[in-house]
Amino acid sequence: MNTPLGTAELRSRFEATFGAAPDGLWQAPGRVNLIGEHTDYNEGFVLPFAIDRAARVAVRLRTDSTVRMLSTFGNQGLTTADAAALDPATAKGWTKYPLGVMWALQQRGVAVPGLDLLLDSDVPRGAGLSSSHAIECAVALALNNLTAASLGTADLVLATQRAENEFVGAPTGIMDQSASLRGAEGRAVFLDCRDQSARLVPFDAGAAGLVLLVIDTGVTHSHAGGGYAARRTSCELGADVLGVRALRDVALSDLPEAAGLLDAETFRRVRHVVTENARVLQAVERLEHAGPRAIGALLDASHASMRDDFEISCPELDLAVDTARAAGAIGARMTGGGFGGSAIALVPAEDEQRVRADVGRAFAHAGFGAPTVFPVRPAAGARRLA
Ligand code: ADP
Ligand code: MG
Repeated sequence: MNTPLGTAELRSRFEATFGAAPDGLWQAPGRVNLIGEHTDYNEGFVLPFAIDRAARVAVRLRTDSTVRMLSTFGNQGLTTADAAALDPATAKGWTKYPLGVMWALQQRGVAVPGLDLLLDSDVPRGAGLSSSHAIECAVALALNNLTAASLGTADLVLATQRAENEFVGAPTGIMDQSASLRGAEGRAVFLDCRDQSARLVPFDAGAAGLVLLVIDTGVTHSHAGGGYAARRTSCELGADVLGVRALRDVALSDLPEAAGLLDAETFRRVRHVVTENARVLQAVERLEHAGPRAIGALLDASHASMRDDFEISCPELDLAVDTARAAGAIGARMTGGGFGGSAIALVPAEDEQRVRADVGRAFAHAGFGAPTVFPVRPAAGARRLA
């Protein structure tokens, strides 16, 4: 993982690249979803937090429509575009994210001129920590500050969602950017995906003597896309048969009756969503009244539900979760869409090294590629740096 540039270095790199000082620097973090998986598109609850890894952008608006973009990652060189003719069909690679945000703001009627942009990010790519939304939120905040957009957070959430859905072409919800834009130090973001209302919930793992480890299995299963679509279809079918707008409207106490109305597989999918929503509400309650150590069993139950009812885990994720738990984690679960990606483990600080060592050993023993394990802290949300 690359070390992030300091503010002064980002500024001087920008000047060396573009020949003028930036108008400002903005930063937006990646996120980890603590609990609440596949509940977002069922209009339910999620509980992500912003992490201490972020995308930073230096931006200078131009008087013409030329767009010039450079990332410190890779050797791709400068990419150019025309702010007056943004087109999802021709945008390529990472620049889809900043260009998508510019496009989404233009669709709202905001005049977005050309600009120079330098990106530096230490959010791991494709590990389920939402490196893409980190970029989008940093750019959205920059443009909100530099143009006459004057959008509130809820509108920035919608603009970045539109960028991902319609410009990048990824069918994502509102969780990632809500966490990135609304997160705060030592807090998780309790989000209602139906009305988008959000509340900060205390989650100071460090103060409770805990470390939250991300275990990136490095696995991307080929059926991830198809599996995701199939789960969404099952949820829609379940809601249809049960006569509700979304599975959010099914209570735990409705499950026995639902079992008689749905085929066995659809019922299991529905049961995951319904119990997961209940677990998010319980997690919020426990964090507010008892602290981070009280949510371990909920993380474990969430994993079991995804493994057995929603069937989106995989051997690598199960091994990461089981090994972390056996080595001292008070709770662990896969996080993200499933079929690969990362697991999280809430670990007493004194057990961190054992969890790391045991997970590494277990993967080697199973013949899996070495996982990447690193701690994340609940950190501040997107903000202007300078
Ligand atoms: P995730 O958001 O889960 O990390 P995505 O596939 O949605 O995964 O986004 C990853 C993409 O974001 C990368 O393929 C790349 O295009 C872009 N990206 C992330 N970080 C950077 C970076 N530092 N420089 C350039 N592009 C980046
Ligand atoms: Mg992404």
